Order: sequence, then structure tokens, then C-alpha cells
Amino acid sequence: MACPKKKTSHRKQQQRRAKWVAQLPTLSKCPNCGESKIAHYACTECGYYNGREYAKAMPRKKQKSASQ
Ligand SMILES: [Zn+2]
Repeated sequence: MACPKKKTSHRKQQQRRAKWVAQLPTLSKCPNCGESKIAHYACTECGYYNGREYAKAMPRKKQKSASQ
């Protein structure tokens, strides 16, 4: 087995672990309703993406609970 020549310093340990910190997705404004939405995803408020409506294909949870 390979054996490390030197003890890993606290700084190097922390630099390695810092890569795994969860990051928030990039938020952008919806051009249709102006709400903030996740970039490259359909808007959760109005269901529009790239000028087309996708709400019927992927109904959000609020609409499901309202219909019941
Ligand atoms: Zn929207």
C-alpha cells in the first residue's frame, strides 16, 4: 500500500472538503411574470419557458391541491 510522505495540513484538508459544499442554483427573472426562477427551468409560477407554456405538461403541486 502507498503511504503518504507528509501529514495533510488542516488548510489542505479544508481546501479539499470545500469542493463538496452545496451551492444554490442560479436564479433568474421570468420574462413572463417577473418572478425569480431557476435558470434553464420552466417558471414555477406561470409555467412558461422560452415563450411557451409547459404548465400542462408538468403541473405544479399547488394546482394539484387546488383541484382536489
Ligand atoms: Zn413566470
